[in-house]
Amino acid sequence: MTIRKVGVVGAGTMGQGIAEMLAFKGLDVELVERSPEQAQQSLQQIANSLDKQIEKWALTQAEKKLVLSRIRPVDMLSGLEECEIVIETITEDLDLKKTIFEELDRSCNPDVILASNTSTLSLTELASVTAHPERVIGMHFVYPVIKTNLVEIVRGLKTSDTTFGKTKHFVEQVIEKKGVMVFESPGFVTTRLICLFINEALHVLEEGVASAEDIDSAMRIGYSFQNGPFEMADRFGLDAVLAALERMFREYGELKYRPSIVLKKMVRAGHLGVKTGGGFFKYDKDGDRA
Ligand code: NAD
Repeated sequence: MTIRKVGVVGAGTMGQGIAEMLAFKGLDVELVERSPEQAQQSLQQIANSLDKQIEKWALTQAEKKLVLSRIRPVDMLSGLEECEIVIETITEDLDLKKTIFEELDRSCNPDVILASNTSTLSLTELASVTAHPERVIGMHFVYPVIKTNLVEIVRGLKTSDTTFGKTKHFVEQVIEKKGVMVFESPGFVTTRLICLFINEALHVLEEGVASAEDIDSAMRIGYSFQNGPFEMADRFGLDAVLAALERMFREYGELKYRPSIVLKKMVRAGHLGVKTGGGFFKYDKDGDRA
């Protein structure tokens, strides 16, 4: 199976990382956003991310140009015709994603794999709005996509062996990440465990046991985590963490998934983390701690 062109629908935190990683691996990327202006903004963010790598001597200006030249903003219906795989990574909203899958199913050939990067939603439910549920699969990347070498490959009830095999080949041979097979379940493995970790850290904070800074230091230094739970939450997006916890609380019905009140307050106040310049900590426009 030769894969040259991949569609990415949604270019926020994850879509930008996925598009950058795919282009870096030499693939052509067709990028779909809500509007041309939004797509340009996402491309600018990708350029900023590449500039940061140049600053660290990890990339040259010529490589940056090459990577950017492989990413093309396109229109949803006409732009994805030549893609072998389409990865949907829009906002975590079931109805919105269902509309996108209906549209993708109509506009892409039946042998094109339709993957979703959803963290908590049911692939079987997304597949149910298509005429070809066997080609729908989960490809769950971990933030930051460029640096994290893992993809959870999630099988829905009707995902075919062929779709799974092609996806595994794509993940392990083409983009060279470790693929872990997961059966559909809210939060899969990574979101389920990491969101519980963040939620428990929030309870520790609420109880006044330690400050956010000290809780992060304890986990980072004590257990060699790259980031502590609060910086992790800021980088994932507090809205994304809240949405994942609420979904798992609804689906599993267990109190351990009930989101902390502090998290809800922060989201209501619009303090969503790195993408809004502040969450538990403050960040500059490049996403570094201010
Ligand atoms: P985000 O809010 O940063 O980005 C979502 C993007 O989707 C926005 O740019 C928005 O404009 C775009 N969008 C919304 N509706 C659209 C439409 N109809 N057509 C085209 N684009 C549209 O969200 P995110 O954090 O990047 O999350 C995206 C997906 O990835 C979600 O399903 C989430 O569960 C999953 N995910 C997130 C993380 C994380 O750490 N943030 C990790 C793994 C998976």
